Amino acid sequence: MTRYTLRAAGRATLPAVPTSPHTDALVIGGGPAALALGAELGRQDLTVRVVAPHPPRAFPATYGAWWADLPPWAQACAAQVWSDVRVYTGPQPTPLLRPYALLDNAALLRAMQARGGALLWTAGQVRAAEQTPAGWQVAGQGGETWTARVVIDASGHQPALRPAQHPGGAALQTAYGVTARFDRPPSAPGAVVWMDYRTPHGQHPEPTFLYAMHLGGDRYFVEETSLVARPAPTRAWLRSRLHARLAAQGTPAREVLAEEWVAFPMNAAVPPPAGPLAYGAAAGMVHPISGFQVAGALQDAPGVAAAVAGALRAGTDPAAAGWAALWPPERRAARSTHLLGVQALLNLPPGALPTFFGTFFALPPAQWQAFLDPHTPAGPLARTMLRLFAQFPNLVRLPLARAALAHPATSLESLAAALKAEPSVTPA
Ligand SMILES: Cc1cc2nc3c(=O)[nH]c(=O)nc-3n(C[C@H](O)[C@H](O)[C@H](O)COP(=O)(O)OP(=O)(O)OC[C@H]3O[C@@H](n4cnc5c(N)ncnc54)[C@H](O)[C@@H]3O)c2cc1C
Repeated sequence: MTRYTLRAAGRATLPAVPTSPHTDALVIGGGPAALALGAELGRQDLTVRVVAPHPPRAFPATYGAWWADLPPWAQACAAQVWSDVRVYTGPQPTPLLRPYALLDNAALLRAMQARGGALLWTAGQVRAAEQTPAGWQVAGQGGETWTARVVIDASGHQPALRPAQHPGGAALQTAYGVTARFDRPPSAPGAVVWMDYRTPHGQHPEPTFLYAMHLGGDRYFVEETSLVARPAPTRAWLRSRLHARLAAQGTPAREVLAEEWVAFPMNAAVPPPAGPLAYGAAAGMVHPISGFQVAGALQDAPGVAAAVAGALRAGTDPAAAGWAALWPPERRAARSTHLLGVQALLNLPPGALPTFFGTFFALPPAQWQAFLDPHTPAGPLARTMLRLFAQFPNLVRLPLARAALAHPATSLESLAAALKAEPSVTPA
């Protein structure tokens, strides 16, 4: 018997006899990943219990996604879609020519609930789960016990059942943002500014960029963002940087309507195949270079749910089948290559990130888009990295070389993948 518990709950003892109704699947969490997979399991005619500390509620974060990465039913949940999407890695904007969407989280929740049919939502907090020959027994903080044939841990960046692994320590993306009214536009009207590395508020060794969306009229969402850092800048520092930027531009906020604080690890390793099936941020599905995860969780859910349901019908291990569907060998290799990319970004000297992204976005769009797609295999990824490497100035190239040399096994695997497979994206 294998038992998984919250780190602080090692003393938990589970009653031998279940005292509550049984479902085929128990999903831990009420975030987008939990709902996405829960809904698809429901569509597979499985009974699904969702356990979350809160009632169903619109997800609290501001979620953006590339429009084309969203499944069609989720495209219908966009609050807004922009075709003017740009980055500034120098004085002039680079148009990205790729529509970008802001999700309407309430609509997304409703759509997932409708897709899943009767998801059984239980308010509670899971503290432990134990696998027995008959299935899973799951314990709640309030003394509840549930049973299920498969347990999905979609409880976010600090997984409920099994701590995530972060090679070299967690490298965080942090950001502080506001939705506010402005007398003068703080960013290009009618546009999403995906990254603005200009520094009207003065150079600082800690590189941050502005992420901004024009929400219509005088409303904008503006966020000062540290892409990835270890240790990461604090909320107070990012807040002061944002307001310093707005002041330096001559565009202070007139009225702040909402604040947002972002902090999550970018470098979680692929979880092991045994045990509960981790999904979403709990499974390290956050893209290590962009920090995006939501669209990927929506995309992957049908395939993972089909694998889980198929295994349940066949009498084989549903969690192992779900894991294999989510993490085929190519994707695991790609993840290692991406983690190498995180290490490379962490190694860059202050001020080199704009140069890095200037070169990155000068690549043919198919290549940078493939690099940001979590489903791109290791071969094309590594070829893009080699191409970037060739084009970078020494300021960027040398730290990247150091990152590659520090992880020789992954680097050699990536290189082998790059040299082996046929290009699947059009070279320039
Ligand atoms: C502010 C912010 C903005 C972000 N913006 C974007 C973006 O624009 N685009 C993008 O793709 N990604 C974005 N991300 C990254 C990532 O996609 C999000 O963190 C996303 O919310 C992760 O989804 P999730 O469902 O895996 O986890 P979460 O959304 O964190 O949901 C976890 C759920 O599990 C519940 N839970 C936790 N512990 C337990 C327990 N023991 N028992 C039961 N339930 C539990 C929580 O209450 C919550 O309901 C953002 C992250 C943050 C923090």
